[in-house]
Amino acid sequence: MPTQGLEKSYSREHIARQVQRLGEEISRDYAGEELLVVCVLKGAFLFFADLVRAISLPVNVDFVRVASYGPHTQTTGLVEFRKDLEMSVTGRHVLIIDDILDSGFTLEALYQKLAGRKPESLKTCVLLDKRQARQTAFEADYVGISFDSGFVVGYGLDYQESFRSLADIYLFDPAQSV
Ligand code: 5GP
Ligand code: MG
Ligand code: MG
Repeated sequence: MPTQGLEKSYSREHIARQVQRLGEEISRDYAGEELLVVCVLKGAFLFFADLVRAISLPVNVDFVRVASYGPHTQTTGLVEFRKDLEMSVTGRHVLIIDDILDSGFTLEALYQKLAGRKPESLKTCVLLDKRQARQTAFEADYVGISFDSGFVVGYGLDYQESFRSLADIYLFDPAQSV
């Protein structure tokens, strides 16, 4: 595994503890309800797989694919919907699960889109919240790990499609990689 430019930031153990905590909070908040959990591909795929197993409620799962970043590490503000849900959200309790809240453009656009389909309730959960990067007023209902700034990879998150399979999360500086 190439390690240049990668600095370990959040260990798999730390991630697992936050996922457990989120699972417990969500299970408590939605007790007695049925939940439709929506994974935002691709970055959330590992977080989603771990989180649904930490939720002790009956859940349905579905997937959307949204792309906001080009090949670089800065947001474009343009959100492209590449794959829609297969299930109806109307009248259901829906929880959107994403990897990271950065500018907020992606989740805000997805939230508006699903809200228009009249779910019974609609909330969002992110593993990572990059506080200083926000360019919208959007906040997630459930947050695993907050940090100020920097570009992170691993545990589902990529840089130009690399690093998604790393078990830990790393700060990545493209300028230092070869
Ligand atoms: P936003 O629309 O909030 O600016 O960006 C959200 C999306 O951009 C995330 O779902 C993620 O795919 C990507 N993104 C934002 N910040 C980072 C980061 O630090 N690392 C990686 N790998 N992707 C990021
Ligand atoms: Mg994403
Ligand atoms: Mg990406």
